[in-house]
Amino acid sequence: MRLGAFIAPPLLALAFAAPAAGAAADARIAALQVALRANGVYDGAVDGLSGPQTEHAVRAVQVRAKIMVDGVVGSETRKALGKLGRPGLGTRTLEIGMQGWDVASLQFRLALRGFPSGTFDGDFGAHTDAAVRRFQEWVGLEQDGVAGPATTRALARPPATSPVRLSPPLYVPYTDVFGPRGSRMHTGIDFPAPTGTPVLAARAGVVTVTRWLDGYGNTVALKHKLGASSVYAHLSAILVKPGEHVAVGHPIGRVGATGIATGPHLHFELRVRGAAVDPLSVFR
Ligand SMILES: [Zn+2]
Repeated sequence: MRLGAFIAPPLLALAFAAPAAGAAADARIAALQVALRANGVYDGAVDGLSGPQTEHAVRAVQVRAKIMVDGVVGSETRKALGKLGRPGLGTRTLEIGMQGWDVASLQFRLALRGFPSGTFDGDFGAHTDAAVRRFQEWVGLEQDGVAGPATTRALARPPATSPVRLSPPLYVPYTDVFGPRGSRMHTGIDFPAPTGTPVLAARAGVVTVTRWLDGYGNTVALKHKLGASSVYAHLSAILVKPGEHVAVGHPIGRVGATGIATGPHLHFELRVRGAAVDPLSVFR
């Protein structure tokens, strides 16, 4: 995939090819996918990776708008995409109530840095406002919920990494990983296992959460050192109490399908001062 400036920012030229293995998600492609979805020509994932389905959708918009059908996302195509086709991120200050390509790009960047706001939809609502404020706190900016140049610059930095190593909470193969899934962000790793399978503490820590959370169902969270915490969701049973100190490998609950889950599995998250971090690289 080649992606570069076309004429001048915020215009965008996209040349489509099969993404290379491990290709990094691009927030501009994600914003394009959000706009294509809103135009009813794309029902694929908002994953920031270009591919045949995204290209096909671009051509569909071009056919409908009676402009040159070349699959290139230039100014005419951006215009044809309507209110989510423009403007590019960084061309205006964003706040609650606004809509656009830049809002979708903001939502995607926030999510990949561990501050998801729900569905990627290009609509700056209360969830996006909350995510911006959490991110601003995380990077030490004033928490005003307004995404201006300082917030945009901070979003360009690499995501947080974990200061600690972890042991697997279950010794089974994982399925879904940390990253975009459908039109939302998946902020952890899924380990499918039979209901009742013991879930193990990924590191020594103190129990901070043992309750039902929306979507997560029965949830346990452990606080570790250096601002790290681990989260265990969809449990069928909780085996620890708040304030309890647990050793690594201690059973903290049992696998279940509580909350929003299509089948029994553990949804596991690593958080660093509140930011969701990809746990995959920190397992010993
Ligand atoms: Zn999950």
